[in-house]
Amino acid sequence: METAWDHRFAQRTQRMQSSAIRELLKLVTEPDVISFAGGLPGPDVFPIKEFNQACTKVLIEEGSLALQYGTTEGYQPLREKIAEITSQYGIGVTADNILITSGSQQALDLLGKTFINPGDKILTEAPTYLGAIQAWNAYGADFVTVPSDDDGMITDALDHALRYGPKFIYVLPNFQNPSGTTLPLERRKQLVDLAERYGVPIVEDDPYGQLRYEGDHIPAVEVLDCRIRETNSCYSGNVIYLSTFSKTLAPGLRLAWVVAPPEVIRKMVLSKQGADLHTATFNQVVAYEVIKNGFLDEHIHLIRKVYRERRDAMLNSLAREMPAGVRWTHPQGGLFLWATLPEEIDTAQIFTEAIKEKVAFVPGASFFPCGGGHNTMRLNFSYSTTEQIEEGIGRLARVIRKFISI
Ligand code: PMP
Repeated sequence: METAWDHRFAQRTQRMQSSAIRELLKLVTEPDVISFAGGLPGPDVFPIKEFNQACTKVLIEEGSLALQYGTTEGYQPLREKIAEITSQYGIGVTADNILITSGSQQALDLLGKTFINPGDKILTEAPTYLGAIQAWNAYGADFVTVPSDDDGMITDALDHALRYGPKFIYVLPNFQNPSGTTLPLERRKQLVDLAERYGVPIVEDDPYGQLRYEGDHIPAVEVLDCRIRETNSCYSGNVIYLSTFSKTLAPGLRLAWVVAPPEVIRKMVLSKQGADLHTATFNQVVAYEVIKNGFLDEHIHLIRKVYRERRDAMLNSLAREMPAGVRWTHPQGGLFLWATLPEEIDTAQIFTEAIKEKVAFVPGASFFPCGGGHNTMRLNFSYSTTEQIEEGIGRLARVIRKFISI
């Protein structure tokens, strides 16, 4: 419906579509719906006790610091702690390489603000993270996609896509959102080599890297980029690396970080100043208090155990319940798996029926910035209990069977 405001909005707002997922989530808030739709961590693993203690301690001992404005770069002890954590994974960084952001979602937005001119091409996997599409659409990005298989981005197809001259390559190497796939070492190396050859930077989004349930850790793209430069410092690298506390502590904190060469950090700091001055000081000081003595590793250990059980419950239920013709990925970590139905099926139609049966998922098409994926769906396994997963997959399979037998 037209309103008196329509002609006043900036042109860029025409490209801002409301996220399909956020709209769908509105439908699934009723308590009897089993939702595999959101990307929500399990609320039962939130470290509530630790945050309770830390809040009290911070207010008593450092209240005047924690409630004050802070620097745009972020709370220095937290930046140093993040540099230390990141270094454990072989990424040689110092606090100068780190910018704390209000969630990785803000980092994606700041990347758009800092790098994207209208009409710039951004190279992504297909499918890719919906929040990135949403953020960069607003800056007038055009997307070029590289197809994926069960091992993530098909890097053999990269060479061709890079000829479009993209501004950067956006990749999620670990337990990808939405597909759950992991990019093998050889593909990571190929990606780094090609990006270097074409002089195109890589944005590596890694919210789930620490949530591995099986298999060996694979070095980050950022680390491999440093290796080809024969340095263990990312000061001069070609990769901008993003991670977040949303999945390892709690998303309500809105605490994440960018690792990048200092000149990139300085420019992004200017972008961030105009957006929110800085990330909430209180949240940063409290999170630092919670993790400063090694709590994070201990907590991640617990999350891995709980989510591995949920992933296994979903994989077992799918194997038991789904009709022939449905296939799914076997994620080694993260929060999602990805199901593909026969070509003629439209999962948006299945969604409408599934909601009537009180089970929800995200139809896959919204994750493809250049179209496709109508017969795919994303299933989240972190939010529901194993009992809910078994019941929910049973309901979903009953709905899918009706479509497949038609
Ligand atoms: N990138 C990816 C790939 C994600 O899955 C998410 C969260 N769903 C984000 C970024 C945003 O995370 P945050 O909560 O840190 O804003």
